[in-house]
Amino acid sequence: MHRKINIQWLILIILAGLFSIAYLANVVFPGKVNPTAFKYFTIDQIQSARAYNFIPRLSYITSFITQAIVLIWFAFSNKGAAIARWVENKSRGNFWVGVLFYFLLIWIILSLVRLPLILYSDFFWQHSWGLSTQSLLLWWQDFFKSAIIDLFLSVCGVLFFFFILTRWPKFWWIIGAAFLAVWLVFQNLLWPVIVAPLFNKFVVVKDPDVTSVVTRLADKAGMQVKEVLVMDASRRTTMVNAYFTGLGKTKRIVAYDNLLNNYPLEKVSVILAHEFGHWSKGHIIKGLALGIIGTFLVWAVMVFFLSEFKSSKGFYLIQTWAGLQLFIMLILFVINPLQSFVSREMEIQADRFALELTGDSKALVNVQIDLTIKNKSDVSPPEFIVWFGYNHPPVLSRINELGG
Ligand SMILES: [Zn+2]
Repeated sequence: MHRKINIQWLILIILAGLFSIAYLANVVFPGKVNPTAFKYFTIDQIQSARAYNFIPRLSYITSFITQAIVLIWFAFSNKGAAIARWVENKSRGNFWVGVLFYFLLIWIILSLVRLPLILYSDFFWQHSWGLSTQSLLLWWQDFFKSAIIDLFLSVCGVLFFFFILTRWPKFWWIIGAAFLAVWLVFQNLLWPVIVAPLFNKFVVVKDPDVTSVVTRLADKAGMQVKEVLVMDASRRTTMVNAYFTGLGKTKRIVAYDNLLNNYPLEKVSVILAHEFGHWSKGHIIKGLALGIIGTFLVWAVMVFFLSEFKSSKGFYLIQTWAGLQLFIMLILFVINPLQSFVSREMEIQADRFALELTGDSKALVNVQIDLTIKNKSDVSPPEFIVWFGYNHPPVLSRINELGG
């Protein structure tokens, strides 16, 4: 090891390592099925959902571990340091060329590490379970579109990061966090109207049955929801879903076409009522506020991690970029349980809201059962995996909560 790993890095890496091992162990050995599951699901449904979930989980954790190892190598090994020095020497005289080149090198390697895992779990595995309706061509189109958006935003990000690092060597973290906070607001505001339409078509639902449900729910809840949008999800998947997104004028409830086309009105109604719950409780704005607080905390802590990457003369080296990526990746991983917990709490609130609004406990429970079967959700997921990463409560606790 060229760079001595200091104590804070060591703690973070060990913690992430322990979480990864625990996660992996629970993927391979998911444990016994909760006996209550047999009240609502057949053995076949329970087993096939377990079998299906194995690969997405394995792909997630393998992707995390391999990317973390690559970044640890870039940030802390002799060879990693030599590469950073080589880039610096090659671009002598032009720091920014060096920064961009070093960034690109890591970006390409990480993309290549991820690619086979997501191609398999996202395309081939989904097809083998009959959950994907996507052609391979469309999959690659999506992949390149996302990659280009990611590359563009990341290039802006890396240039901005080194700009504030060199311009304000003491206070860069406050400026960086403040900038990211503003970015998060814009992202929540604009993503649904700028980025989402690059991947799907969204149109206002005109079906009079559905619009009358929307009006009825809105009146009853005293909310200003005038319409919902339908998204052509069936181009990619057979899964059924709806979601709430946006801020201010871009707030919207979106339903998959798979939901509106194949489900009876009373089920559509309770699903929409759940999304009304997210809207009414202001979950996007609350999530955003927590995200902004979290950003400041993470950037404040990051100072103590990136100081490792200063040269003997006290300025930050190009290798700081590997350190930043590694830090962000590891810290988001270890605080994932906290984020998942907050999300699960919001889901419980939205479920309660839907129950109060519709009074239809039976329909709500039945929808949970339907969606679980249709989307092949794990009926009895390992407790650790729920604690670590479930942003919705598992189906049995939702049924229980809904009075099923
Ligand atoms: Zn929800």
